[in-house]
Amino acid sequence: VLVATDIHKRFGTVEVLKGVDLSIQKGEIVSIVGPSGSGKSTLLHILGTLDKPDRGQVMLNNANVTALTGKKLAQFRNHHIGFVFQFHHLLPEFSALENVCIPGWMAGTKKQVVKDRAVELLGLLGLSHRLDHKPNAMSGGEQQRVAVARALINNPDILFADEPTGNLDSANARELHQLFFDLRKNFGQTFLIVTHNEELAQLSDRTVHMKDGKILDASAVA
Ligand code: ATP
Ligand code: MG
Repeated sequence: VLVATDIHKRFGTVEVLKGVDLSIQKGEIVSIVGPSGSGKSTLLHILGTLDKPDRGQVMLNNANVTALTGKKLAQFRNHHIGFVFQFHHLLPEFSALENVCIPGWMAGTKKQVVKDRAVELLGLLGLSHRLDHKPNAMSGGEQQRVAVARALINNPDILFADEPTGNLDSANARELHQLFFDLRKNFGQTFLIVTHNEELAQLSDRTVHMKDGKILDASAVA
């Protein structure tokens, strides 16, 4: 699903990524771990097309996304990529259901098709009784599950998550991990997750260790 080669990135004079190679197979759940400042979020943003590398290339589903810009890039992102962050960034004035639907509508899918899928996803995530709730009327774990449903609404090839459980207590974190594995089992969903959570890292198919802008594992290229 994903093949990244020789990714370099600098911010000003600081070289944050120093030649990263990584490939991920469909249905894999891969964790990225490493010290603060080692470049994990920067890498995830580049792989998820939210940022461009200075050098190197990202192939997603056999498309060279590094070469895409503007509308084409936005369209690709809408259809192929899901993102979950530490802070969910749900829109406070919209209900759970609307929050999940919005990226589907933006991708141009029929309103009713999006809504049916959103209801189904929220059901799968155990939130059928929360469809009309606004984010601030839900617990942190519920909000994060809404964010996962939103990331999945366009059936992405890969879901990127940057410390998705960083803001959750251990029971909610464990539930979210279980959810990732259920999604993989049911849909063959692929995940790349930056995490400080040891438990999740151990459960993953593969853990990639980052340090000083590099991946330490020789096996990062599967
Ligand atoms: P953490 O575990 O704390 O989230 P991280 O591994 O995700 O750390 P990054 O956020 O990728 O680390 O940051 C790597 C380095 O790049 C840091 O030194 C950071 O200050 C720098 N950096 C990140 N984004 C920018 C930016 N937009 N402008 C300048 N420097 C940046
Ligand atoms: Mg980070």
